[in-house]
Amino acid sequence: MTPFQQNLAKRIQDSGPLPFGEVMLLSNEHYYAHHHVFGEHGDFITAPEISQIFGELLGIWCVVQAEALGIKNPVVVELGPGRGFLMADMMRVFEKVSNFTPEIVLVESSERLTQAQQKVLAHSPFPITWQRDLGALPKGLCLFIANEFLDALPVDVHAMNDGISAKMLVYWSANAGFTFSHDPETGIVLERSSAAEGVVGRVADHIAEHGGAALFIDYGDYIPESRTGLTVQAVKNHRYVDPLTHLGESDITFHIDFYRMQKACLREGISTLFSTQREFLKTYGFDQRLEALIAFCASDEEKQDVLSRAQRLIDPTQMGELFKVLEIKTAS
Ligand code: SAH
Repeated sequence: MTPFQQNLAKRIQDSGPLPFGEVMLLSNEHYYAHHHVFGEHGDFITAPEISQIFGELLGIWCVVQAEALGIKNPVVVELGPGRGFLMADMMRVFEKVSNFTPEIVLVESSERLTQAQQKVLAHSPFPITWQRDLGALPKGLCLFIANEFLDALPVDVHAMNDGISAKMLVYWSANAGFTFSHDPETGIVLERSSAAEGVVGRVADHIAEHGGAALFIDYGDYIPESRTGLTVQAVKNHRYVDPLTHLGESDITFHIDFYRMQKACLREGISTLFSTQREFLKTYGFDQRLEALIAFCASDEEKQDVLSRAQRLIDPTQMGELFKVLEIKTAS
């Protein structure tokens, strides 16, 4: 066992089993603070790590929103910026728009990833500030961007037995290691992330008060009723692993329940738009941008590489339909 797992086991031995959501929170905090998370040499790869088109089109989305709101100097807030590539790609778009002068705020809890972002964005033409959490959001109109942020937040799992719901707990024993209190394969389980709903709600409150817009992109689905089944998963070295076997060493996520997210942000003065990643990227100029990128390629090999990476983002059998987009805007 790793020192992190030993501490967690001791805590459970001393004070009893912990709700799964709490174990996920501790595990992911440790994981993002200590591990090589992203990229081909990390544990998993995200859209901005696959192709620059992703960040560029999100940059265009920001410019379009700012224009619609009649401003040139929005505060662009990114939640969970990973290694900073998404923001770097967005900034290349911002620089091309005359008189567009955004201020950037990056919300990142991991010290290690903050340092990685500072390196990648060292020559930023726009002022950047970092903050550890959503505690004090900047005042005034903001555009919020969050890619694969919500799915890293803790989710609680409830096991249903004869109509009675019990929070899924995590036990530890020397023989069996970490185990669930209920077998997630049998019976009905419900997932509920008050953390993710809380973030979406806070952002919606901010937009309702100050104006602005937000984009939440994540792996998930939209089922307009109670969603059942365990979607919690853990990834290590690009492979799925048991969520409780590599605590602190693997990325634990769940599929976002976009129906609940949308409900969490409905309030007066707010409108929402839901789409697949494919639809969203196509709307903001995927085909035209890809054509331009290909025209710049020096060889057929490079062309093939640019093309296949970009296709991965919109291909319905890859990320195109598995990933969904929730836009939140000031109602017009
Ligand atoms: N958006 C990036 C990375 C997604 S991974 C990309 O697309 O590549 C999740 C990111 O959220 C990491 O940067 C992680 O450190 C950060 N994070 C996780 N929980 C957080 C929290 N509660 N507050 C702030 N950042 C958090």
